[in-house]
Amino acid sequence: MTSPEGDTYPESETELDSDSHAIQGNRKINVAYMSKQMYCTSCKEKLHLEDIIDEMKRGGAVIFQVKCPTYLVVSDVKSSQEYKNPSTGRDIFAINSKAALGMLHSGFGPRQLNKLFSILDLPKIDEKTLKCHERIIGPVVELIAKESCYEAAKTERSLTIKNLDTLKKLLQVYLCCEIYTNTAEK
Ligand SMILES: [Zn+2]
Repeated sequence: MTSPEGDTYPESETELDSDSHAIQGNRKINVAYMSKQMYCTSCKEKLHLEDIIDEMKRGGAVIFQVKCPTYLVVSDVKSSQEYKNPSTGRDIFAINSKAALGMLHSGFGPRQLNKLFSILDLPKIDEKTLKCHERIIGPVVELIAKESCYEAAKTERSLTIKNLDTLKKLLQVYLCCEIYTNTAEK
């Protein structure tokens, strides 16, 4: 296929993939977050997507291994932000919580969600991971629903709710709040 400028570009995605990049298929990445990390940890030079030599999948998130072409040092680059699991204090990827949130909103189960990911050629998120993230965000979603329905939640500002507020901010579920408000108004 030829563009109006006379450049040729691949006919299909398969042809694009065939140039044997270490990473095949699609990924969910936070472009701004990832681009800030695309520097060699040793010489501080800018790294490029073609310098990616491998990846470690963490549910829907990925830790790319990016090799500096000059000094061959491998740097880890995370595809999306992390936050602390409120119950364990361990770092977890926000994209997995967002996937669980999306699953709840759309009325999908893990199987349907992964079918969609499979067609989009995105890494699957196993059921255990989704359930774990569902447990983390569940109370936040409930709280938002409550807050949009009654003012009552204001009177019970316990430590738990405080923690949930922090999580709510971290997850940036304001969109979710909007959806619930809209639903409640109907
Ligand atoms: Zn370097």
